[in-house]
Amino acid sequence: MTALIERLNDRDLFKTHSFINGQWVDGDTAFAVTSPGDRSHLADVYDVGASGARQAIDAAEKAFQHWKKTSVFERARIVQRWHDLIVAHADDLGTLITAEMGKPFGEAKGEVVYGAGFVSWSAEEAKRLYGETISTPFPGTRGWTVHQPVGVVACITPWNFPSAMITRKCGPALAAGCSVVVKPAPETPLSALALAELAKRAGFPDGVFNVICGDAAAIGGEMTGSDAVRMVGFTGSTAVGKLLMRQAADGVKRVSLELGGNAPFIVMDDADLDAAADGVIASKFRAAGQTCVSANRIIAQAGIADALIERIAARMEKLKVGSGFEGGVQVGPLIHDEAVARVDTLVQDAKGKGAKVLVGGSPLADELGGSFYAPTLIESGEDFGLDIANSEIFGPVASVYRADSEDEIIRLANDTPYGLAAYVYTRDVGRVHRLSEGLDFGMVGVNAPMVGSPATPFGGVKESGIGREGGKWGVEEFTELKFVLLGGVNA
Ligand code: ADP
Repeated sequence: MTALIERLNDRDLFKTHSFINGQWVDGDTAFAVTSPGDRSHLADVYDVGASGARQAIDAAEKAFQHWKKTSVFERARIVQRWHDLIVAHADDLGTLITAEMGKPFGEAKGEVVYGAGFVSWSAEEAKRLYGETISTPFPGTRGWTVHQPVGVVACITPWNFPSAMITRKCGPALAAGCSVVVKPAPETPLSALALAELAKRAGFPDGVFNVICGDAAAIGGEMTGSDAVRMVGFTGSTAVGKLLMRQAADGVKRVSLELGGNAPFIVMDDADLDAAADGVIASKFRAAGQTCVSANRIIAQAGIADALIERIAARMEKLKVGSGFEGGVQVGPLIHDEAVARVDTLVQDAKGKGAKVLVGGSPLADELGGSFYAPTLIESGEDFGLDIANSEIFGPVASVYRADSEDEIIRLANDTPYGLAAYVYTRDVGRVHRLSEGLDFGMVGVNAPMVGSPATPFGGVKESGIGREGGKWGVEEFTELKFVLLGGVNA
């Protein structure tokens, strides 16, 4: 493809150095960033390793001493400027996402704007971090609470939302008065570094916002081992989340973890089947199925299963797969060839165990010249024991199961260590309540295939994580509640 930098309107957004204490810093080694759409080489990004992490944490610790004391109105102005710059550069940020992650450009730009929404929401919401006055049992005393920023926050982010997973954490952290060190995924550092350039332009004081790239284990070890870091915010795999939680335990650091999911997408026999099929497509094929809230198990009540499958298949046949830069493309590549191989192993295993492949069922790498997998529809019958039902598919594969009673559907849906998002399609108001209350998931979309927004809490239960991002809860997450007791009032 044309050199990536030449595709940008503002070429200063293309960075390969880490951003530490307001400076662009190089490292002794570098790692390659490759486009999954055509396997072209996009950039070599410096690895600043553990020493870069130390420098960034030191800078963030110093900067925190001033940042926490600024008025929230002053902080909000800078955070809001960052939002405005992100939105103004949405085309370029979208281009970077499509190049390094692969999702279609329209979707990439949508991610930028969605992610920026958390920044402006937080700028406003941080002003409303009200404390309370409390009646105390002791004569001559008064009590009250205040929200104070947690301190230096380390954020480790994944490649599937290269922009939004950073803004969703950093918007509220910065507005609440924390300083931040971000380590983006090695697959998508360019989006993160462009956000750092815009943060610099927005006017954050040096050290308040840092982005460091490089060896994950070395940087993660430094972050979790540092006394200065008071909180670790992570989005990624459950395995790495557990590792970070263990590492953070020694310093009793706060953790906010947004981990894997295994979303049931339940369609009851009274549902609007066209809306449900549209919902499956929206939930399943966004980011080529590489989101933690993607429909993983489509559970159809037996009476409508055939009609639902027919509708999903008809919609899937029309999906256009290809490079995210090509007009009209709805499904881009997977992040790399290993992801394609992993998805194919799940499909072939299910097929070998009797599941029927109704649409797709194989990689498209040779035809399309990148890490592509055909949109695939599998009819898995009543077999919930398949690997594909128990792993996060993270690919464009819709797997449909049949079940009968409502109780059985709730039991099957909950039969997973994960608990992030669940979806239910029904028009029966009693069912809406019984299912949304019975499902052990942090978020339930009823007749709605997407659940995230700046105003609402996003997060999971069980092994899907701890903490919430978004809304007032997302800002409170970055604060400590302090209680003050004043004595001698009647003296
Ligand atoms: P995925 O398998 O989808 O890439 P990961 O959980 O491996 O998900 O990656 C999410 C983020 O966690 C990335 O930024 C990655 O570099 C980082 N990461 C991976 N391993 C570690 C580790 N040992 N310590 C700290 N961060 C890590």
